[in-house]
Amino acid sequence: EIPELSVPQFVLAGAAERADRPALVDGLSGETITHGELAFYVERLAAALHARGLRKGDVVAVFSPNTIWYPVVFHGIAAAGCVISPVNALYTPEEIAFQLKDSGAKVLVTVSPFLDRALAAVEKAPVDEVIVMDGAEGHASLRDLLTADAPAVQVDIDPATDLITLPYSSGTTGLPKGVMLTHRNLVANVSQSRPLAGVDEGNERIIAVLPFFHIYGLTVLMNQGLQWGGAVVTLPRFDLEQFLRVIQEHKITRAFVAPPIVLALAKHPLVDSFDLSSLRSVTSGAAPLDESLAQLAQDRLRKGAAEGTSVGQGYGMTELSPVSHTTPEVGLEPAGAGPTPKGTVGFALPNTECRLIDPATGEDAAPGERGELWVRGPQVMKGYLNNPQATAETLDDEGWLHTGDVAVVDDEGRYTVVDRVKELIKYKGYQVAPAELEAVLLGNPEIADAAVIGVLDKESGEELPKAFVVRAPGSEITAEAVQAYAAEHLAPHKKIRLVEFIDAVPKSMAGKILRKDLKNRA
Ligand code: ATP
Ligand code: MG
Repeated sequence: EIPELSVPQFVLAGAAERADRPALVDGLSGETITHGELAFYVERLAAALHARGLRKGDVVAVFSPNTIWYPVVFHGIAAAGCVISPVNALYTPEEIAFQLKDSGAKVLVTVSPFLDRALAAVEKAPVDEVIVMDGAEGHASLRDLLTADAPAVQVDIDPATDLITLPYSSGTTGLPKGVMLTHRNLVANVSQSRPLAGVDEGNERIIAVLPFFHIYGLTVLMNQGLQWGGAVVTLPRFDLEQFLRVIQEHKITRAFVAPPIVLALAKHPLVDSFDLSSLRSVTSGAAPLDESLAQLAQDRLRKGAAEGTSVGQGYGMTELSPVSHTTPEVGLEPAGAGPTPKGTVGFALPNTECRLIDPATGEDAAPGERGELWVRGPQVMKGYLNNPQATAETLDDEGWLHTGDVAVVDDEGRYTVVDRVKELIKYKGYQVAPAELEAVLLGNPEIADAAVIGVLDKESGEELPKAFVVRAPGSEITAEAVQAYAAEHLAPHKKIRLVEFIDAVPKSMAGKILRKDLKNRA
């Protein structure tokens, strides 16, 4: 059952009960906002925005790294009935301007270190006002708004139809698309995620290192984290040492991460110098995570003890608010199902229907066979903004969202995501998944990181798997040795045909390999 509430009502429902307990903690400075303060600020901000003329449905863009004030701004805008369009913190002025125009933003909220980029963007795509959270000459600050003498507002929000946010997809496969999500989409997804999570209500301490501007950080870290009533501890970006220190010092219980962080937990020597024993669960999402890497990270975090941290996975996309699948906490598996193997993304969430469609026939794939994953449920987006064609291609008349990802399901109902349909390398009639080749390469201790793409060979017309490899410190592994290692573990048609050594695999802040950059390079 999905509560008929707006997102701020839902997320802040328990705030009065735990008014004096920390809700948001700055992982570096320790600055804290309590649940009571959060609820108070949200109400004040909504009133101030209303007094400045913002009305239901108006779009407010937010361009900021993770700070403890980001959730205040998010829920304040939402409580005013406005729609938040979160902007990628790495964007250039051109990219910001595209999103301001496409979303029709009226106001841009930013921070002083980002002000130059924000103002350059606003020159190309004007807005009514730029608000600088921490203040800057000539602009309203958050403090001004929170202390303004504005009458409280009660905006009538219909959770089923009113938008709360317009996040943009990551732009991995093309231009980023504005995704229309309603209050109900987000409330549903937080509610659906709870039964498999084993929440220690009020006591969780969650590290928020993935960006709030991406749907994963936005829903899973910010909204779900606060709704669970614990503390959300923010970091502005991923730095391994800072990340480990914050887990140790703030006794973090849960980390939601992406594969690059699991890679560091599995392989980086620094991990052993910290006491991470408070950490009960690490969940990876946003990109494929290899089974043995997940196992390695878990073994290392447990340091031989039988109980302790478990490393799991979730699957989702912006269009799914974002989660459709997750691995259950040990003991919370659906009736009759055994333990969850690493490498799977677990079970469909409650109220989430799934189909696997054979691309060749358009029919449901045979049991145990791969197919494109289709998902239907209350977390499915309303559509793409200003893009009826993309909406029609992705969301069909019966409400099925065509994910564009290839998956397979076992007979107990656990899904494994193979890769994106668009990334599969076509070689001699076979389809080779880059994620599988990357996973094999990462199994070699001489390889610190790797990414694989298909490169068109003009002569044969075939796509050749090409690996970009980062050598481990001290390693001098050769291209031939990389190829030979992969060949030992893979069928002949999956052989790596080309190797290039690089210093670092380009990745987004949300943890995705930027294959477009590698393709341009190749
Ligand atoms: P765009 O749609 O703009 O090309 P994007 O698909 O990368 O970008 P997101 O919505 O941020 O934008 O990411 C969703 C995608 O991330 C999924 O379609 C899937 O390919 C990938 N993904 C998410 N979680 C997992 C996972 N656990 N395993 C494998 N892939 C995952
Ligand atoms: Mg996508």
